Amino acid sequence: DLTGEPEDSLHRKDEGYEPGEAGTARINATILSVVRNSEVDGMVQAMRDLEQTWNSKFNYPWTFFNDEEFTEEFKTRTQAETKAKCSYELIPKEHWDVPSWIDDGLFKESLKILEEKNIQYSGMVSYHQMCRWNSGLFYKHPALENTQYYWRVEPKVHFFCDVDYDVFRYMQDYNKTYGFTINLYDDPESIPTLWPQTMKFVAQHSEYLHENNAMNWLSDSVRRPEHNIKAQGYSTCHFWSNFEIGDMNFFRSQAYEDYFNHLDRAGGFFYERWGDAPVHSIALGLFEDASKIHWFRDIGYQHIPYFNCPNSPKCKGCMAGRFTDGEAFLLKEDCRANWFKYVGMG
Ligand code: GDP
Ligand code: MN
Repeated sequence: DLTGEPEDSLHRKDEGYEPGEAGTARINATILSVVRNSEVDGMVQAMRDLEQTWNSKFNYPWTFFNDEEFTEEFKTRTQAETKAKCSYELIPKEHWDVPSWIDDGLFKESLKILEEKNIQYSGMVSYHQMCRWNSGLFYKHPALENTQYYWRVEPKVHFFCDVDYDVFRYMQDYNKTYGFTINLYDDPESIPTLWPQTMKFVAQHSEYLHENNAMNWLSDSVRRPEHNIKAQGYSTCHFWSNFEIGDMNFFRSQAYEDYFNHLDRAGGFFYERWGDAPVHSIALGLFEDASKIHWFRDIGYQHIPYFNCPNSPKCKGCMAGRFTDGEAFLLKEDCRANWFKYVGMG
């Protein structure tokens, strides 16, 4: 049942917590967003939603990242949406630039081929850079050095439901590593060698596999066998990473560091169009205890064209159980049921 009432028992520990107690009870966490100056309208709208439904009760700081300096307009308009502190951070060039070992000619050739295959955004060099940064570099930014948990937010997303407990405290108290709202199949053409490269890494580093991993979820071939075939053994089901609530200690672990470096050297962030969503999902599915991954069924969410819409009086403007308001074929992109089949509802 994907539309059931939020399970209040899950949050019993939060009873009695007084939000806003001079901020003393806040967890070491930030809301973060990598965003362009030109997206300020969408960012303000997303902030308004999250502040109204959740953050105005807790006042977690916001940290904005950009590969260019933020404009005064961006800073003024976003800070005006929250009582909490906003920080505006430049991404270091060495974290954003295409790495030296990427072959220019091969990259240009690959971009042409990817575009001919109509892989979304594949012709934009900056999209490849953004996916790589979100995969293996965001948590290394000096501004996050002393921060443990993050909630990733993108411009134009919507939040529909009042959430009255401290989500970061929930992560900490229940020992969760990662929270998601939506599970989707990916375009296998964007990641043809991601799984083979992953298997190569795992063969060299079997010690990193968690004993309670989600390998059977990752390698499912039942529902969309053609995806598994094109992705060479990976179902392509992933946590949709425009929403993620996570513990950066996972990404800062030796296992993830070695995995990311392996992928980075393999070149698929540029010669293919590996997204940070499948990279995070595969790493979590292999190297983390599956029981530490949490479906936030109670956080009503939309990033066009998909929704997570709980059936709860706390939600407004979100039709209970709706997955998409786009065309019907989009329904088959939903793979949450796979997660529940192999791992459960948590
Ligand atoms: P989609 O969600 O895959 O359709 O891709 P988006 O265009 O929404 O990009 C994902 C996130 O990365 C959004 O928060 C964008 O604002 C951000 N982003 C993408 N490209 C760039 C870039 O070149 N510079 C900056 N600063 N942010 C970017
Ligand atoms: Mn987006």
